[in-house]
Amino acid sequence: MKSRLMNPEEFRKKAHQVVDWMADYLENIEQYPVKSQVQVGDTARQLAEVPPMSGESMDAILEDFYKHIIPGMTHWQSPNFYAYFNANSSYPSLLAEMITATMGAQCMIWETSPAAAELEDRMMEWLKFCMDLPDDFVGCIQDTASTATLCAILTAREKYSDFNINKKGFKEQPVLRIYCSDQTHSSIEKGAKIAGIGKENVVKIPVDQDLALIPEKLEEAIKNDIYKGYKPICVVAATGTTGTMAMDPLEEMGRICEEFDLWFHVDAAYAGTALLLPEYRWIAKGLEYADSYVFNPHKWMFTNFDCTAYFVKDKEALIRTFTIMPEYLKTSTYGTVNDYRDWGVQLGRRFRALKLWFVMRNYGVEGMQEKIREHIRIAQHLSKDIQKNPQYELLAPTVLNLICFRYLPKNIKDPKQINAINERLLERINNTGKAY
Ligand code: PLP
Repeated sequence: MKSRLMNPEEFRKKAHQVVDWMADYLENIEQYPVKSQVQVGDTARQLAEVPPMSGESMDAILEDFYKHIIPGMTHWQSPNFYAYFNANSSYPSLLAEMITATMGAQCMIWETSPAAAELEDRMMEWLKFCMDLPDDFVGCIQDTASTATLCAILTAREKYSDFNINKKGFKEQPVLRIYCSDQTHSSIEKGAKIAGIGKENVVKIPVDQDLALIPEKLEEAIKNDIYKGYKPICVVAATGTTGTMAMDPLEEMGRICEEFDLWFHVDAAYAGTALLLPEYRWIAKGLEYADSYVFNPHKWMFTNFDCTAYFVKDKEALIRTFTIMPEYLKTSTYGTVNDYRDWGVQLGRRFRALKLWFVMRNYGVEGMQEKIREHIRIAQHLSKDIQKNPQYELLAPTVLNLICFRYLPKNIKDPKQINAINERLLERINNTGKAY
């Protein structure tokens, strides 16, 4: 039987063909319906039920990709994509990602790719520099903000149990409590579940009219819990909530954490990129109180998914929470370099620092600032137009580039009916394939 495995020459030919497709795809992306229009099961019906016994040609595979997979894809890089949050990619990021996949390196420790570890060190310093983050932060790259928040919760859990839960489990431990507003991202509850703290021990604090956490309510909840014999360990603030981009008051929350000796984690998954702009640094006022901080270059900073920047103050506590030392991972450089396997959940790690390096060098700080500024300008402009038009209602302040608004039909006053109309409208718009 003829082997279908590619030789280097065939790989080169196909790779050029695929790169041509990539460039065409991005150039003509608006020709696709932005939200996939397939129905449940449409894609599955086109797929073979079992894998082929003998290899198939790349031509056949690519043809099926264009014919059966593309129609089932939603085009997140399309300029008509307004849903959820940005998941920006960019040409330099794509080039880095191709190189990363080609080398297929496992960057778990310094020795398994010294350049990857040292580039990661430097990229975290670059981010600190261009976003004016606190000097005492040290950072690493995680896959997602959810993982980074889990790391924060686990580190808080270990620090406040004197690293005993890692050792002995929860035996003889008090009930641990975590605090966040009722607007924060679901990853906090998920993290608490995984960390064994339990979602019922995530205390949801009420918010003000701008949907930001009310610090007095936080203090009250902590005092109440202490009185009842619970052990508060961690407070999570949102710098930009997912629903409305509300900004929690970091300074007041930080002071409360200091007073009660609690781990203070700040989640700026989306909004963090705005710190590239000096005029928006006010959103991080009080960040110096944070024990840990997360933001996602894979959302708004031109770096394709996945790439999360995670910073901590107490590097030793983080490493002590995650460290492992089997025989096969021992190295002579241990302790003198950053072995990032000890900075989070994963052992094997992708070489994600490369795409950050490519992006930050190709755009330059000013290039990134120019784009981010323009995104905010466009959103503020639209937000003002919406506010001027009585047919629409703005539902939350437009702090950066997220606009929450709805259609307000003239003669309908019943909120339920207004919601139902907006729900139908949203579905209809999304089904046009013209905007998502
Ligand atoms: N935190 C906030 C504020 C978010 O908006 C999101 C995603 O929307 C997340 C966390 C989760 O991000 P990830 O998908 O990187 O886990």
